[in-house]
Amino acid sequence: MTKIIVLIGAPGAGKGTQARLLEERKGIPQISTGDMFREMKKADTPLAREVQEIMASGKLISDDLTYQIVKDRTSRKDCGGTYILDGYPRTPVQAEQLENLAKEQGKEIQAIEVFIDRGELMKRLTGRRSCPVCGEIYNIYSKPPKTDNVCDFHPDTQLTHRADDNEESVSTRLATYDELTKPLLDYYEKSGRLKKVSGEGDLEEIYKELESLI
Ligand code: AMP
Repeated sequence: MTKIIVLIGAPGAGKGTQARLLEERKGIPQISTGDMFREMKKADTPLAREVQEIMASGKLISDDLTYQIVKDRTSRKDCGGTYILDGYPRTPVQAEQLENLAKEQGKEIQAIEVFIDRGELMKRLTGRRSCPVCGEIYNIYSKPPKTDNVCDFHPDTQLTHRADDNEESVSTRLATYDELTKPLLDYYEKSGRLKKVSGEGDLEEIYKELESLI
């Protein structure tokens, strides 16, 4: 049966970087709710402004709106086989909504926790940069671009720092993770659907381990 691979981990654990590598190298579509919301907030509509405000504060967007965008996106043709969800589900309600979606799509859910020491996270998040054109993720400490602050693939594009990677919203995002998302690890563990990988160390080593779990 084809799978929905759910990556769960605190912000900064490296889910996005690894999911993008899996997409690049194995052709498994990576669906990131964070990326979709960042795209959505660029529009000039009341909803976009609301999304922008919520994201900047580090809080979560409503379960129903999030479900709607996940359902729409994963019903496209490229998600007919196995796909990766990066950053979804993040609450018990979302986990329940995903069970229904998986049933409708005839897929199995496989959750993978990317775990990392809390002390490392702040450094990672504040060092994170990304390309506004292709979304490539860098880190000034652990994965710097070839030229300072410029995307390796878009030499004319300066990297940007996410608006919600400041200390205040990072603390809100970590607290939200502990309160709402962490309990999902137990939920998937109890139903025998949880695997774990360390998010610390060399990117390629983490990738190898993750790939072996899929
Ligand atoms: P991320 O890029 O995964 O860290 O997500 C950035 C922000 O997008 C989060 O802090 C939330 O405001 C919003 N977001 C992303 N995924 C979800 C989700 N599954 N549920 C609710 N809000 C989300």
